[in-house]
Amino acid sequence: MLSQRFTTILRTVSAVSARSVASSRSVLRHLPLPPPPPPSVTSRTILRSMPSIPFLGSFFSSSSSATKKEDMSFPDQRSDSEWRAVLNPEQFRVLREQGTERPFTGEYDKHFAEAGVYRCAGCQAPLYKATHKFKSGCGWPAYFDSLPGAVKRNVDNSLGMERTEIVCANCGGHLGHVFKGEGHPTPTDERHCVNSISIKFTPEDEAAAAKDSKA
Ligand SMILES: [Zn+2]
Repeated sequence: MLSQRFTTILRTVSAVSARSVASSRSVLRHLPLPPPPPPSVTSRTILRSMPSIPFLGSFFSSSSSATKKEDMSFPDQRSDSEWRAVLNPEQFRVLREQGTERPFTGEYDKHFAEAGVYRCAGCQAPLYKATHKFKSGCGWPAYFDSLPGAVKRNVDNSLGMERTEIVCANCGGHLGHVFKGEGHPTPTDERHCVNSISIKFTPEDEAAAAKDSKA
């Protein structure tokens, strides 16, 4: 008797719970689908699940001009039109558009002096001492070192190879490229390969040059 009633209670409970499950299922069936996550979340999730983020990063840093603007800031911020007013077309092409003069044609390729400085042809900042110059035979003026802080380096991936561009630290004017480890008998074994048109020699003494470079 007791057990019979208990069974009935059990049946009722299970029937109720079955009904409630059914009803909750039907409620679920009629609920609208959950909204899709916002696109930003989706792309973030995709990025997070991508195995090689550094690879993706290389896409974003492939623009050398963007990198250059980020890494390089110069005291002399003249605009292109201001530079055109003070440079001749060939100077503008080399200094402001990363051009290169033909080898063995430049004014200073075979120029050697005991003292003096080679200044930036754009902004006149002193860059190299006469005593930094050496004979490399490459067809452009070659220096094994610059005045301290006068030249900035910048990775150049043009021409399908990685080179190190050198620019005037004051105005960003393109000077040429620097090469290391070529076996030159100099204190640095570096060759600053500079376009003659990017520089201007002034035969002043070294003390004056050093003073200028600090100013
Ligand atoms: Zn300069």
